[in-house]
Amino acid sequence: MSAPESQLTPEQLELRARLGAGARYDAEHAPHQELLLARQGTAYFLRRLQELRDADFDAPSALEGWTRRHLIAHVGYNARGLTRLVEWARTGVETPMYASAEQREREIVLGSTLPCRALRHLVEHSAVHLNVEWRDLADEHWDHRVLTSQGREVPARETAWMRAKEVWVHAVDLGNGGSFADLPPVVLDRLIDDVFAAWHRRGEAVPVTVTSAGRDGDRRVRSSARGGPEVSGTAAAIAGWLARGETRGLHCSTKELPQLPHWF
Ligand code: ZN
Repeated sequence: MSAPESQLTPEQLELRARLGAGARYDAEHAPHQELLLARQGTAYFLRRLQELRDADFDAPSALEGWTRRHLIAHVGYNARGLTRLVEWARTGVETPMYASAEQREREIVLGSTLPCRALRHLVEHSAVHLNVEWRDLADEHWDHRVLTSQGREVPARETAWMRAKEVWVHAVDLGNGGSFADLPPVVLDRLIDDVFAAWHRRGEAVPVTVTSAGRDGDRRVRSSARGGPEVSGTAAAIAGWLARGETRGLHCSTKELPQLPHWF
C-alpha cells in the first residue's frame, strides 16, 4: 500500500520514479507529514554529527550532566526504543520502549563509553532499522495502542512525531552550531504546542501567554493559564525558551521571564 500520488511532494514523486516499481512505501494511512519530519530531522542530526570530529565527542552537550557521547548514545537508543514500539504494533506482542527508567539510564551511560565510530554507527543503524519498521507497518497497525516511556498510551502513529522532536531538538543540543532557527516552521509550532500539552497533562502549567511569529509573518497566541506575563518572539525564540530555557530574542511584558517547568 502506498500514498496516493496526489499527496506526494515533487521530491517524493521524483524519488518514487527513480526507485521504480517494487520499492516499498509507507502505508496509505501512515502519518506522512510526521514521518517526513522525522526523516528530515534524522538527516539534520546526522549532518551535525558528521561535522563533529571524534575529539569533540567528549565535550559537554547542552543537556546538564551529559557529554555529547551521552546525547549521541541516547539518540541511537531512542530509535531502538521506538522500533520496539512499532514492532509491538505490528506483532501485537507487548514490547516496552525501555524495560525501566534505570535500564534506560544505564544503557546511555554504558553507550557513552563506546568508541566514536561505534557511536556513529549506533545512530545510523538504529535510524535505518526504525525507518524499515515504519515502512513495513500496515494501515491496520498504525492505530495500535502502545505505551511511551512516560507511561502514556498512544497510537503507534505517534512514534513518528516522538522521533521527529527528538532528532531536531537533540541536533541543537549537540551544541556545534545548530539552532532552533534551523528547524522547519511546522516543527517549531508543534514543539510549542507539545510543551503546553505536556504542562497541561502534568498539571504544571505556569500562567503565561506566548505570541510566536513564524517566518511567514504568521502570529500564533497560546495561553497556558489565566493571567501571567506576555512573552513574544519569533517561533524559533519561543520554542527555544519553552523547550530549552534559551532567553535570546524574547520580549516580556514583565521585568522577569516566568520560571518554566521542564518539558520532558
Ligand atoms: Zn531525548
